[in-house]
Amino acid sequence: MNIFLADEAATEDLGRALAKVCPAHCLIFLKGDLGAGKTTFSRGFLRGLGYTGRVKSPTYTLLEPYDIPSDDKSRVQHVCHFDLYRLADPEELAYLGAEDCFADGSVILVEWPEQGEGMLPVADVTLFLQYQNNSRQAHLLAGTERGQQLLQLLASPQL
Ligand code: ADP
Ligand code: MG
Repeated sequence: MNIFLADEAATEDLGRALAKVCPAHCLIFLKGDLGAGKTTFSRGFLRGLGYTGRVKSPTYTLLEPYDIPSDDKSRVQHVCHFDLYRLADPEELAYLGAEDCFADGSVILVEWPEQGEGMLPVADVTLFLQYQNNSRQAHLLAGTERGQQLLQLLASPQL
């Protein structure tokens, strides 16, 4: 699925839209050059879940966890936002608490998943962000059946 993102707000809106249809357990890879909009998308995603606090880039912490309390247990309860750009070795993921994120059924957003190769499961959805003049081009690819369902919901006109 290809989506033109005219400006920052459009990138955030794509994050919001994906959050609205995202199941409680989901792995999303965010690929693209520095400044392509991976963190912007993640901010929109968290806003779409109703999180109103600050969304920081995990550039230095590598992981920013979020609790999204909801009485509806079928909805997203936790989000783990990774930025693996500074990960020296994929093995380091074990020290970041990554396994806890996978175990507790969080939604996991991963910037620079290439850096964790071999240590990460197959992503449900991969978002590719590319520069296009002063805007961005997004390409979404499903890696699992769950991801396919997610992209179908995203594309459905009633949303
Ligand atoms: P990344 O996490 O990929 O390094 P960021 O989201 O931190 O990128 O930064 C992206 C930058 O590009 C921000 O300055 C943001 O305002 C801008 N931006 C995001 N989406 C778009 C877009 N669709 N068109 C133009 N600029 C954008
Ligand atoms: Mg970033």
